[in-house]
Amino acid sequence: MARETYIGQKPPETSFRLTKEARNKCVKWLDSLTEQTAYDWFKERRFRDNGGAPFCPRCESTRVYDLASRPKWWKCARKGCHHQFSVTSGTILHSRKLSFVSLVKIIFCFADCAKGRSACEMHLVRNHGYQTMWVNLMKIRESMSSTREDVWLREIIEIDAAYFGGKIRPANRKSQRDQQDRRKAEFQKGKRAIMVVRQRQGKTVMFAADDESPAVARAIARQLVDHTGHGALLITDQATAYNDLEAFAPHMTVDHSKGFMIDGISTNQAESAFSRARRSEIGIYHHWSPTWLDFYAGEMSWRENQRKVSTHDKAQEMLDGMLSHPVSRNLKGYWQHYQLPFNQRERGEQRWSRVHAHIPPRTQRLANE
Ligand SMILES: [Zn+2]
Repeated sequence: MARETYIGQKPPETSFRLTKEARNKCVKWLDSLTEQTAYDWFKERRFRDNGGAPFCPRCESTRVYDLASRPKWWKCARKGCHHQFSVTSGTILHSRKLSFVSLVKIIFCFADCAKGRSACEMHLVRNHGYQTMWVNLMKIRESMSSTREDVWLREIIEIDAAYFGGKIRPANRKSQRDQQDRRKAEFQKGKRAIMVVRQRQGKTVMFAADDESPAVARAIARQLVDHTGHGALLITDQATAYNDLEAFAPHMTVDHSKGFMIDGISTNQAESAFSRARRSEIGIYHHWSPTWLDFYAGEMSWRENQRKVSTHDKAQEMLDGMLSHPVSRNLKGYWQHYQLPFNQRERGEQRWSRVHAHIPPRTQRLANE
């Protein structure tokens, strides 16, 4: 059947991934990589605010000296500080076990794929244990997730939700299958929603929520949407969760029972982000655990925003994110069965409590403005 044509539509662009700008220009550099050159890259990016020269991460003093007793360590010379630090101290790579060469190769291997790469595949390719690879990739995802914290969306914004994780298999016998309505809560297995908030021609924020609820919709309108200037136009489907949005900004809905786009109103950009996330879940990872769903959502939103960036720039962005992220409370000592401090265990807090956080904290920033 011939494809429907639209008058005045732009000719399709060439996919960025087919252009020469997308290619990895660091192949030669990676082939001849030594521990020293890999370390130099880490040092340059960690201390990029000071032209690559080390400064104290605690008091930001540039008066530091090399520690004679420990190679590649520095000590702050400022009176009252004297903090000792290395290139990864206090970052998500604190107490790293892998060499710098291994880390650089993992970062490039993980950066150049469009929809992610699983720990199972990476441990075969990069020759590390599965557990090592899982925890290092999760740390990369956690640092990717934190880039959602500084985003304000404006102009035309599409909001939508889709459910991920917790797949229910149909029963073997048809008689049992007929009794099992997999849409009902009693047959559900902890699937959660991923919310997408996407500015047209702009950034995308994806995060996990327990449900597509009015509370989540209100949180989005308060914490992600920039209401200053000409304000924003919010577009959603006709789910009841979005009924309150009218109170925050002009709100339009598209009736999906009639079509994907009615009178130019659509949430197709949000659906497109879901399409990639769904392919990643099914085709790459095969399973997204509801516990870690927010990290996968963070990864997909990072990849969506970096989709027209070369491999080298993506790898650099990834490394900068990791070196700016504090030590992970969710993943530090994961395979060593690290426990929370006793008072937090008493309160019944879980180690991965931050994973369940719905939306990046924005209250402080709102209070300042
Ligand atoms: Zn200091």
